Amino acid sequence: MHVAHLPPAAKVGSAYWAQCAPEEALSKLGATPDGLSTDEATRRLQLHGFNSLPHVAKSPWYVELSKNFIHLFALLLWAGAALSWVAGMPQLAWAIVIVIIVNGLFSFWQEFQAERAAEALAALLPHQVTVRRDGTEQRISTTEIVPGDILILTEGEAIPADARLLKAERLRIDASSLTGESRPVPRSIESAETSGKTGILLPNLVFAGTSVVSGYGEAVVFATAAATEFGHIAQLTQAQDERLSPLQQELQKVTTVVTILAVGFGVLFFLVGTLVGGLRPIEGFLFAVGIIVANVPEGLLPTLTLALALGVRRMAQRNALVKRLSAVETLGATTVILTDKTGTLTENEMTIREVWTGGTHFTISGVGYGIEGVVEPSGHESTVLELLRTAALCCDARLVPPSAERPHWSIIGDPMEAAILVAAAKVGMTEEKLATWPRLVELPFDSTRKRMTIIHQVDGQPVACVKGAPSELMVRSSKIRWNGATRPFDEAQRQTIQAIHDTMARRGLRLLGVAIRELTSVNQSAEEWQVEEVESDLTFLGLLAMEDPPRPEVPAALAACREAQIQVVMVTGDNGLTAAAIAQEIGMYQGEVQVITGDQLDHTSKPELLHLLDNPNVLIARATPEHKLRLVEAFQQRGEVVAVTGDGVNDAPALKRADIGVAMGMNGTDVAREAADIVLADDNFASIIEAIREGRAVYENVRKFVTYIFASNSAEMMPFVAFILFRIPLPLTIMQVLAIDIGTDLVPAIALGAEPPESDTMHRPPRSRQERLLNISTLIRAYLWFGMIEAAFGFVGFFWVYSLAGWRPGMPMENSGLVYTLATTMTLAGIVAGQVGNVFACRSSSQSVLKLGLLRNRFLLGGVAVELGLLLAMIYLPPLAHVFGTAPLSGSHWLFLAALPVVLLVLEEIRKFLVRTISPSQGRN
Ligand code: ATP
Repeated sequence: MHVAHLPPAAKVGSAYWAQCAPEEALSKLGATPDGLSTDEATRRLQLHGFNSLPHVAKSPWYVELSKNFIHLFALLLWAGAALSWVAGMPQLAWAIVIVIIVNGLFSFWQEFQAERAAEALAALLPHQVTVRRDGTEQRISTTEIVPGDILILTEGEAIPADARLLKAERLRIDASSLTGESRPVPRSIESAETSGKTGILLPNLVFAGTSVVSGYGEAVVFATAAATEFGHIAQLTQAQDERLSPLQQELQKVTTVVTILAVGFGVLFFLVGTLVGGLRPIEGFLFAVGIIVANVPEGLLPTLTLALALGVRRMAQRNALVKRLSAVETLGATTVILTDKTGTLTENEMTIREVWTGGTHFTISGVGYGIEGVVEPSGHESTVLELLRTAALCCDARLVPPSAERPHWSIIGDPMEAAILVAAAKVGMTEEKLATWPRLVELPFDSTRKRMTIIHQVDGQPVACVKGAPSELMVRSSKIRWNGATRPFDEAQRQTIQAIHDTMARRGLRLLGVAIRELTSVNQSAEEWQVEEVESDLTFLGLLAMEDPPRPEVPAALAACREAQIQVVMVTGDNGLTAAAIAQEIGMYQGEVQVITGDQLDHTSKPELLHLLDNPNVLIARATPEHKLRLVEAFQQRGEVVAVTGDGVNDAPALKRADIGVAMGMNGTDVAREAADIVLADDNFASIIEAIREGRAVYENVRKFVTYIFASNSAEMMPFVAFILFRIPLPLTIMQVLAIDIGTDLVPAIALGAEPPESDTMHRPPRSRQERLLNISTLIRAYLWFGMIEAAFGFVGFFWVYSLAGWRPGMPMENSGLVYTLATTMTLAGIVAGQVGNVFACRSSSQSVLKLGLLRNRFLLGGVAVELGLLLAMIYLPPLAHVFGTAPLSGSHWLFLAALPVVLLVLEEIRKFLVRTISPSQGRN
């Protein structure tokens, strides 16, 4: 099929297509209901380009860059530079300017890296749609959609392009992204009167950016990418959420408070120094600048952003794709996980093992989705046949035969339906045979009704084929097929079936009921069939029992949760007995499981519900998405940080409401993925636990680098205090303070942000939401422990140089010349050497450094190498030595310095040991 003159959609507009009849639209777009050929699609792709919108224009890079030079701290430094200049110290002024530039560029680079990591993730999220091409349905990337493609629209799918409907069965879409109105809008295929109507008001069109709430549809694409309505409204395109995460906000506050305090101290010391200490104003000024520069944690915020981004990248490697940076930190604080069963705890690879119908119990053999298998006992095939045929006629899934690329049978669609098709094929009810009964109308599955019907034409008569939760079908059945005959469904039979159902469910089998109804009215349109009416007065055919094995990784993941004191609650649509049996099998609960059904929840008041949740062994069965939302809120009211999993359209409110919404990447709907904070690429519960581990690690890492950075700040301040209190020459010049803060400290601090989780990360309870990043013990450890040790290193080096030159206590000290330069170099090198030990010490606040494995964080070794390289450059490269006021050190100096990290580490090991023995619970701060 080759169409030379495709109407340019952008020019004719959507109203044009709304006026066309379906066949007319197809022919104008050079398409058929069977879809384009692959060759034609490729040709059109070249012509129209990829179906993706250009990226939202952010502020240009130079605006982003300039922001890094005008924030509070940068302004302070500018003022410092100006003052230094005026005070006749151009060298210091230049140095401060260089610091501003290096700092600004570095922050910009980190933000850029973090953004790149986020973008790379967005690209990982699979965005696929079902289209019909070459007469078969296939999943393709949304970017490959071209005009003329036939879209297959099912519940929960995001609509990737503007299209004219060809088929619409109870189709309703969510067009809130275009209209702001969240109520679903119905769609139909009739050609529309278009006068005065545009966009979503045209009822036979669907638009990119909207999604299917319910029903089924087929539509031919007429506009892609920028030509779509969505493309026209540029500002609506996937604007990034740029709010700061709670941790970023906290750190921003910390930075501001510390900056204000530092300036306050600076001014205070200036006044005390000049008025009381007898300093000249210029000395006092130098002093103030030193205090300020030593205390402002300038690298903190960008380092945090990068640490979060690195955490996000590591989580992606563990199949948890995080959509917002802030989700990382919330994950670490998670205390309760509400999880689905099917597909998350289980494989979602179903096989029908047993069938009960008409008084007989059958077993079915076979492996996977292969259609080889036998039904036993034999000789009753006709009874089983009707049941399996009816169930199979009520399925949307497809079986795909083995091919060169896939050596085994595979499926498209719901695995449970695929299992039904497989079982049907085993009794000879193949897809070709099923196709002889034309499908009239679908009343799609929804998780509140828990059933689904497809009406087919059988021998000229409409017949409703119904499948769903057995309890739902039994109450709607008035008759039952028993040994080929139809009988009234009496109470005794109901009880028998219930008992059979319960026995199978207790074995962990998932059960589905099947029923049928012959309908009388023939010529009804799709919209005229009323669900409640069709699904009543049914004839019950029997039960299908299927196996859905638990995922092998799940028991270990649950054990990890227990150890990490995270409560896991199963909230499933399945029945209580099956769910409890599976929970038992995977070791989900300890002690007796208390099953609460959705119905019971409906009759429970809020206080009663809160009371029920006191029991850690609750399992919620036959739950709907509304119940899930209620549970999320109830747990939050109990003060828990709640993660919830979901995959359906109706799960969106619960996913949004939860602290962490987790959607399924493989079997989830696009709507659920949009609403979630995290998407699990493999739908696997175990991946949530891995993500929590990473989330906890990120928070700990932030605390590690804060401890590291604050330790040197404290060590840098002491020389100034000594200078004013003891009237000694300033042991560390301002330039040298800057050298540590914005030079040697930076890379090792970032490397701490890349620490892998510690082995005991999941052996502790979740962090309390109230817990602050900077608690008292962190501050003490940074300022008073490491800070003082390093300050002592600096002073020892400083005085050692003087004493080698003949100075003794009580004698005056020169404040210039080689001895002074050498002495300040030793203070600088002493603090840097202390920081080398510190970076290893900070890797854990309780565990011995020997247990952490030196090579587990290679960044760290690189960071230390950079740190030492910079120190050497500042001492041995003449221009730098000049700027930083350093002098070359001798071998004995270096020997002394080499011992310092070891001394610090030994002291810290003793502290950790004492803390671990005296108060194991306080082992962490
Ligand atoms: P979970 O909530 O743990 O994923 P689930 O798949 O059983 O479990 P729902 O999808 O809400 O949860 O389904 C609820 C019930 O509805 C199922 O237990 C089943 O009895 C019935 N059901 C599920 N899918 C279909 C379907 N395609 N057609 C008919 N009935 C279905």
